[in-house]
Amino acid sequence: MLDLNAQHIHMHQAAADKSAALALLGEVLVADGLVAPGYLDGLRAREAQGSTFLGQGIAIPHGTPETRDQVFTTGVRLLHFPSGVDWGNGQLVYLAIGIAARSDEHLRLLQLLTRALGEGDLSEGLQQAESPEAIIGLLQGAPQALALDGELVSLGVAADDFDELAWQGVKLLKRAQCVEPGFNASLPLGQSLPLGDGLWWLSSEQSVQRPGLAFVTPVSNLEHQGQPLNGLFVLASMGEAHQAMLERLCNLLIEGRGQELSQATSSRTVLEALGGDVPADWPSAQVPLANAHGLHARPAKVLTEIAQAFEGDIRVRLAGSESVGVSVKSLSKLLAMGAHRGQVLEFIAEPPIAGDALPALVRAVEEGLGEEVEPLPAPGEAEQAVIATQPPESAIEQAALRAGDQVNGIAASPGIAIGPVLVRKPQVIDYPKRGESPVIELQRLDAALNKVHAEIGTLIDESQAASIRDIFTTHQAMLRDPALREEVQVRLQSGLSAEAAWMEEIDTAAQQQEALHDQLLAERAADLRDVGRRVLACLTGVEAEQAPDEPYILVMDEVAPSDVATLNAQRVAGILTAGGGATSHSAIIARALGIPAIVGAGPGVLGLARNTLLLLDGERGELLVAPSGAQLERARSERATREERKRLADEHRMEPAVTRDGHPVEIAANIGAAGETPEAVAMGAEGIGLLRTELVFMNHSQAPDQATQEAEYRRVLEALEGRPLVVRTLDVGGDKPLPYWPMPAEENPFLGVRGIRLSLQRPDILETQLRALLASADGRPLRIMFPMVGNIDEWRTAKAMVERLRVELPVADLQVGIMIEIPSAALIAPVLAQEVDFFSIGTNDLTQYTLAIDRGHPTLSGQADGLHPAVLRLIGMTVEAAHAHGKWVGVCGELAADALAVPLLVGLGVDELSVSARSIALVKARVRELDFAACQRLAQQALMLPGAHEVRAFVGEHC
Ligand code: PEP
Ligand code: MG
Repeated sequence: MLDLNAQHIHMHQAAADKSAALALLGEVLVADGLVAPGYLDGLRAREAQGSTFLGQGIAIPHGTPETRDQVFTTGVRLLHFPSGVDWGNGQLVYLAIGIAARSDEHLRLLQLLTRALGEGDLSEGLQQAESPEAIIGLLQGAPQALALDGELVSLGVAADDFDELAWQGVKLLKRAQCVEPGFNASLPLGQSLPLGDGLWWLSSEQSVQRPGLAFVTPVSNLEHQGQPLNGLFVLASMGEAHQAMLERLCNLLIEGRGQELSQATSSRTVLEALGGDVPADWPSAQVPLANAHGLHARPAKVLTEIAQAFEGDIRVRLAGSESVGVSVKSLSKLLAMGAHRGQVLEFIAEPPIAGDALPALVRAVEEGLGEEVEPLPAPGEAEQAVIATQPPESAIEQAALRAGDQVNGIAASPGIAIGPVLVRKPQVIDYPKRGESPVIELQRLDAALNKVHAEIGTLIDESQAASIRDIFTTHQAMLRDPALREEVQVRLQSGLSAEAAWMEEIDTAAQQQEALHDQLLAERAADLRDVGRRVLACLTGVEAEQAPDEPYILVMDEVAPSDVATLNAQRVAGILTAGGGATSHSAIIARALGIPAIVGAGPGVLGLARNTLLLLDGERGELLVAPSGAQLERARSERATREERKRLADEHRMEPAVTRDGHPVEIAANIGAAGETPEAVAMGAEGIGLLRTELVFMNHSQAPDQATQEAEYRRVLEALEGRPLVVRTLDVGGDKPLPYWPMPAEENPFLGVRGIRLSLQRPDILETQLRALLASADGRPLRIMFPMVGNIDEWRTAKAMVERLRVELPVADLQVGIMIEIPSAALIAPVLAQEVDFFSIGTNDLTQYTLAIDRGHPTLSGQADGLHPAVLRLIGMTVEAAHAHGKWVGVCGELAADALAVPLLVGLGVDELSVSARSIALVKARVRELDFAACQRLAQQALMLPGAHEVRAFVGEHC
């Protein structure tokens, strides 16, 4: 947690520049045991990606995702630089707040810190501060204003009595982060004040984070202490923040206008009467935030920069919130929102600028605010993936499987499993709705929470797999969550049993998370439900059903962490689930336990009769129901072969890949970031066959300068220790836009301005990248290639630039080539081959353009198979042309790692295969099994086949 402790502030430090300041900070963090020495690299890398200057003389240096494992304990250390340190662009820093955080705690830290910053400028005060206490005083800022906005007013809420109405008010204050757990318990319910006109007043100073006033009215008229109860104020009191509002309220009551509040039908009326924040009636636009770590410093900065270009007020709030929002121009306010992935942002802009500002902001958020973002799942997808509710019996019956059926699901954990079925369905647990008394029920609940906590502790101790221990640690934290317990306690007041109150609260909390349509949060909801069931079973004394002793295939809708205790890998041969995706708990658990698994196989698997024999292939995602003797025999021998092959492949991963008849094939790795290089080398890579440089560009809010890029490329070359590096110049545009590179929207981006076409429109950016590459080589083998070349002029223009630059920056071992990704390039390969040094075939794009199937098409992409003879012919033509001129050819698309494609690519004469690091050992082993002459014959025959399906069957039969 952000702990502004005087001992953590190092006063009167001096640093010549930012680099020295970071080194000093690194030393302090290491000395205090928060981080390992490697964290300093993270601090530097983070600054290289973009300055951490926050404003007001403050910077917030922190590490990168790659250096999170260097953090031992979350915490902050503050260095005071009275002479200032230039943090770039002349921005002077007087206080560096170094953050050590392992994950998204980082966001939370920023949120707390920025909330503490006042509106004014702290620079001068920080510079002149003489003591740690003075710094703390400044950071804690001016007295906070009373929060009173639409979020804190709720009219016509369901409540049966005063206590329930008070609870609704507390909930508003909690949601607005005005109060912490403990506030509710501190409210003196018995000392509520009647104000007249059916209005009541309650207040507490305990557990208040920031002052706020909630106002709630009941849906139907109530009574309290023999008087009408038509509206209730709940004040989270801090200092004098509420004085002005209180005076307005008193005047209003004296004027006899209390009914304006008790009978209000709109929150605006209440806010106007009390002087609260009334939302502006301006144009607005909404957009979901997809950034993995939410609106943290870097994306927030991009947003402020866009907003600052407009003259006028632009605000943002979470959609659905009634707040007035915060200024998009203020970095600290944006960070204080703590918006995370999946939440919808609503921008509101002054009418004169709204027409331009709103679309620009929405587009920037959609484009990831300078970060590469995974699209959010479509509404409903996330829930379907993780909610462990059993499909209806009718759906199960309709889809029920029969002997001989073959089903394809999602391959979740490799291996072949054979065994009888055990279908485990969720147990239905009955429990009484009403309890004895709130006190007794709370005692029962606490006892159950403690018991389950201890049981999970035992599971953590026994578990070998870190990923499973992590899940259980989260479950323990949920059991100890004071807010959850407090909410249940309130429900107990209405006479519910511990079971009913607990399950109601679990359901509400889980539904709230599911509603955000975020995969991660939806998985948290699944965790909540799992913890919920475990506590319910404990409260009711229901035991989990016993599994049979023989090795069986466990079939469930979803595997929950609480099932792990019964998943003895000796007895559970395989796991098959109806629901779930590749990242669901079922898949994670199966992989962690090393149990072969298929997930998402559909409801039919739940209708399988007990003891039906199943054959499950977790690598291919294939399931056979009641397989024949011959099928079983084949599967058993394949299992033995695969396991042995993997073991042997790993053993020989560092050796070259040479066919049985002595033909060598170079096996290299595809990587996206410098940090992946050492692992690729350790996994047997003979070089990097494709460095995708897009990430270097996407991790910045503007095109990275030469020094930044050079540092990245040097890291790769250094880790390669003399092995060759093939770098692809920036390949963005079309479907992969760069936020700071404005491009008109295109009807069909895959056929639009992308790859080299785009780079040639901004030669300055291409030139900087080429300079950085040439400067980083230092005599080491460097190969540069251009993406998406479609005609010879593009190649010649790009090549000419390299030729011009290499005079200035000579490189001893340089080759320049192109990617063959567009059929036109393959077709003119005989011409291109005279000029290039090499070709690298990008089969992912080459296949989509040859077959006219969008590689990401939801239904057709399965047919975009690079083994289509049309694609193979283009590869063959490319190799022939290159070899005729003594040039080499690589393949760096996914096809290069496909076991059925390797013999054909080798047979067509491809010299290098570049694959993901984890495929290297197996691809090398595959090459060693082959006979080059036989592969050549096989390839020629494959070219004569009509389609990809036939090619796969043909290779499968012959190799
Ligand atoms: C390809 O198209 O095969 C390729 C390697 O490039 P990318 O997948 O990055 O488009
Ligand atoms: Mg490509």
